[in-house]
Amino acid sequence: MTTRQDCVELDAVDPLGAVRERFSLPDGVIYLDGNSLGALPVAAARAVDEAVRRQWGEDLIASWNKHGWIGLPQKVGGRIAPLIGAGTDEVVAADSVSVNLFKLAAAAVGARGGRRVVLTEGGDFPTDLYILQGLAGMMPEVELRVVEPGGIEAALDDRVAVVLLSHVHYRSGAVRDMAGLSTAIRAAGALSLWDLSHSAGVLDVDLNRAGADLAAGCGYKYLSGGPGAPAYLFVARRHQAALRNPLSGWMGHARPFDFVDDYAPAPGIDRWLCGTPPILSLTALDAALDVFSGLDMTVVRAKAAALGDLFIERVEARCAGKGLALASPRDATTRGGQVSFRHPQGWAVMQNLIARGVIGDFRSPDVIRFGFAPLYVRRVDVWDAVEVLGEILDAESWRDPRYQTVAAVT
Ligand SMILES: *Cc1c(COP(=O)(O)O)cnc(C)c1O
Repeated sequence: MTTRQDCVELDAVDPLGAVRERFSLPDGVIYLDGNSLGALPVAAARAVDEAVRRQWGEDLIASWNKHGWIGLPQKVGGRIAPLIGAGTDEVVAADSVSVNLFKLAAAAVGARGGRRVVLTEGGDFPTDLYILQGLAGMMPEVELRVVEPGGIEAALDDRVAVVLLSHVHYRSGAVRDMAGLSTAIRAAGALSLWDLSHSAGVLDVDLNRAGADLAAGCGYKYLSGGPGAPAYLFVARRHQAALRNPLSGWMGHARPFDFVDDYAPAPGIDRWLCGTPPILSLTALDAALDVFSGLDMTVVRAKAAALGDLFIERVEARCAGKGLALASPRDATTRGGQVSFRHPQGWAVMQNLIARGVIGDFRSPDVIRFGFAPLYVRRVDVWDAVEVLGEILDAESWRDPRYQTVAAVT
């Protein structure tokens, strides 16, 4: 049984211990929601201030060239690439995950001859399903096939053009077998499209080793790029010439500043840009990525696994018989950076936790979710968070009416 003192001692020799100092974290808060909105890197605040005051404020439009604004989507993409096992010429930062999934899924259907089926699993992150529903709605020849979790391989046939899957499930934290599924999808003649929102920055993602074709992911979760940070997308080199971005905006043109009437896609990854990049947001994400340089992602993943294991051990010891049921894989090798528990009054329990300074989140209908961003969460935080949870469940203080009102963002 782990003691609090054990946690303090393990934190003292944690190879990632010093990385925490690169984040600005409020006092009195245990932040277990870095899987939804990553904490603020100190360097990001400084970089945005510089970009606003000096670059925008003084150098004005000259900054597109002078400060390299125009190349920022590629620069940031190139810095994300090593975190996801991609080449620097295979990733670009752009748009949101939703928009990138639309671009990639539509392109995949367009490039797969007569194949017209877009395949995915039910119960995945809503926007992924909604985007595919929108695509099928505007292209009547596209058929959206949604199968039960675990049913992808059985549903692969010669009509499937593309398969969209989350690498880590947003609710349970379960990790999918990217290599196995990508291989099966490729063998069936379709393209794999992976959503990395809950895996980049916490797992040792290796798209190219897994044989993945396409991917998109989030900049504001474990990558800590800030609220609404740009997302990114990956197109394997072997597909770059054949796939066309359906949102053929000027920034994806081969020569945007020629201002010609006809669209001609840029070679390589650049064609996946659409409109003018959000420079302030990209600046924050670029600076946030400094934190990752030189880190071994297998070490990062190992710490996430250890924190999750510790949390499960402590919850099951401290909160036994209090209505909690584990809703994540117990085995850390198939679990991402988060651990979820079900509780019939999950919403109220989480509101009570937040009021006590332990910040996680809630996913309808009954899941309370705790994210263990390994760059700034310590073992002692996990220990203390479970103590607070135990006190709340013992006293049933979540019954207080102020914890019952449901807010717009959960
Ligand atoms: C967070 C998340 C998104 C976010 O999509 P946006 O369009 O960037 O808001 C998409 N998919 C998954 C699986 C996510 O976890």
